[in-house]
Amino acid sequence: MIVSCVGIGVGAESRIAIGEAHVLGQRPVCVTPSWVTPLEVDAEISRFELAVQSAAAQLHAVLEQIPEEAPSDIADFIDTHLLMIEDKGISGGAIQLIREQFASAEWALQQHRDNLVQVFEQMDDAYLRTRRDDLDHVVRRIHKVLMQTEEDNHEHLTGRIVLAEDLSPADVILLHNQEIAGFVTDFGGPMSHTAILARSLGIPAIVGARGASHCLSHGELLVLDTRYGCALANCAPAVLSYYGDEREFQHERALLLRKHSAEPAVTADKARIELLANIELASDVEAAVLNGADGIGLYRTEFLYMNRRDIPDEEEHYAAYREVIEGMGHKPVTIRTLDLGADKQALDARFRPCGGNPALGLRAIRLCLKEPELFRPQVRAILRASAHGDVRLMLPMLTNLWEVEQARNLIRRCQQELQAEGIDFDPNIQIGGMIEVPAAALSARAFAEALDFLSIGTNDLIQYTLAIDRIDEEVNYLYDPFHPAVLQLIAHVINEAAAANTPLSICGEMGGDERFVPLLLGMGMRSLSMQPAALLDIKQLLRSQDLSVLQTKAAGFLQNMHEEDPLTLLSRWH
Ligand code: PEP
Ligand code: MG
Repeated sequence: MIVSCVGIGVGAESRIAIGEAHVLGQRPVCVTPSWVTPLEVDAEISRFELAVQSAAAQLHAVLEQIPEEAPSDIADFIDTHLLMIEDKGISGGAIQLIREQFASAEWALQQHRDNLVQVFEQMDDAYLRTRRDDLDHVVRRIHKVLMQTEEDNHEHLTGRIVLAEDLSPADVILLHNQEIAGFVTDFGGPMSHTAILARSLGIPAIVGARGASHCLSHGELLVLDTRYGCALANCAPAVLSYYGDEREFQHERALLLRKHSAEPAVTADKARIELLANIELASDVEAAVLNGADGIGLYRTEFLYMNRRDIPDEEEHYAAYREVIEGMGHKPVTIRTLDLGADKQALDARFRPCGGNPALGLRAIRLCLKEPELFRPQVRAILRASAHGDVRLMLPMLTNLWEVEQARNLIRRCQQELQAEGIDFDPNIQIGGMIEVPAAALSARAFAEALDFLSIGTNDLIQYTLAIDRIDEEVNYLYDPFHPAVLQLIAHVINEAAAANTPLSICGEMGGDERFVPLLLGMGMRSLSMQPAALLDIKQLLRSQDLSVLQTKAAGFLQNMHEEDPLTLLSRWH
C-alpha cells in the first residue's frame, strides 16, 4: 500500500524527485528545568556567552559556504539568524534569567524562547510566524552547542530526499551543496524563507507535510510530486517506473522547449501573445531570459525590504533595478512599488502596521501614501532607472482613484527634483496599476482612463472577492479562481480596459496556470505574466490554441457557469 504525506509543493521546473529518504537526526532538543548555585552564576553566564559566540561562528562558516550560483539574497537569510543570535534581545533575556533565577544556561534560554513565542502568538501575524521559526532555528543552534549535541551530518546526501521536522535556510544551503534530490518538512509554509530559498535554488520540496518525518522511514525509496504536494513511499514498481518516466519526460521536455525559447509566443492562428515574467529577486532575471520572457510583468520589490533591520535607500533600489533592466536587455521591466503589509513585512517597526487584519489594513499603496519617506526613495530610484531602459511603474492594491492622483503627484514632485538636480529619467514613464481589489475591478473603466496600463492581480482579487485570507490554512480550500464572481470581475476588467484602449496584463498565479490560460485568452486577455519556470509550458500550450475557437468557447462558458460546475464545463473544452 502506498504511504502518502501531503503538504504544499514547492518547485516549478523540477517537479518530481525520486530518492532514498534520509531522516535528519533532528531529535528535539529536550531541555529539562535545571539550576545553578549562586556561586556558579558568573561561570554559567560565561558558558552561555561562549555558546552564543560559537553558534554565531557556525553561521559565519555557513555564509562562507554559500554556493556561487546561489542568489545574492540568500546571504540575507543567514544574516537574519546572525542578527538574531547577536541581538541582546535574545541573549540579554536569557542572561537575566540566569542571574535572577539561577537557571542553567539551557533552561534560561528555553524559558526566554517560550516567553518570546507567547508574544509572537498574541500578535497573530502571519509574518511573525515566520520570525518565530527563525527564532526556533537560532535557539536550537545555541542549545546544541550548550548541550554539545553532534551537528547533523550533512554528508553523503547526494541524490537523497531529506526529511526533517523543519529546516532553516542555513540547512537548505548546506543540503544544496550536498546535491540532495529534494526535501520534505513537517512544518513551514510556502511563504517561509526556507520555501523561497528552495524555489530559488530549484530544489523540489514539500513543506508543511504534517508528520511526514515521523511516518516515513529512513532509507526507504520516496517519490516527491510537487504538483500535488505529496510524498509517496512504498510505491509499487509500476508506480515508480511511471514517476521515473515522468521525471525523464519532464527533463527532456524542458530541454526541448528551451530550444524554442527565443521564438515568439503565438497561437495556432498566429495571434501574438505577450508572455512576461514575475520576479522577486534580481537574480530571477536569468531564468526569465533563459525561458524567453518578453519582459518583466511584475517585479515584486518588497523582497528588497525583507530579512533586514534597516530599509533600502535610494541607491540600493537604483542598483537593484539597473541590474534587472540590464539583465533584460531592451525588454520592458514593470517595477511594482512596494507591497509591504499583510504577509510581507519589513523588520523595521516604523513600517509595520498594527491593525487586526493585515490583509485589509495598511498595505501596499496605502502604506506608501501614508509614509512618503518610505515611498519617495523608491519612486526616485525607479525614475532614475527609467533612463536605462523601458521601465514601467506599477502601483499595487489600488482601491480609490484619489490614490492614483496622490501617487501621480508624488511621482511628479520626484521628477521635478531630479530635473533640478540634473539627473536623467524618462519623462514619459508609463504609470500603471494593479487591479486586485473588487472595488477597483468594478471601477476598472475609471482606473483604465487614469492610468497608462493595468494588470490583474488574481491572487489578491480572489482573496478579497471570496473573503478568504490567502495564507490561512483553515480556509485555503475556499480559494477558488473558478468562482463565477471572480470570473465575472476578470471579464469586466478585460472589457473595460479594451473599451478605454488601455493595455492590460494579468500577473496573478492564474496567468501562468495551464488550466486557466485558454479561458483567459478566450475572454480577451493578450498579455500574461508568470513565474519564469512556467513560461516554456505556456508558450507550448499557446501553439495548440486557436483564438477564434477559444472566444466562442469562453462566451458559452461565461453564460453557463452559474448553472454547471465550471470545472466540468471546462473539461469539455478538451
Ligand atoms: C496578486 O495579488 O495576484 C499579485 C500578483 O500580487 P502578490 O501575489 O504579490 O500579492
Ligand atoms: Mg497582490
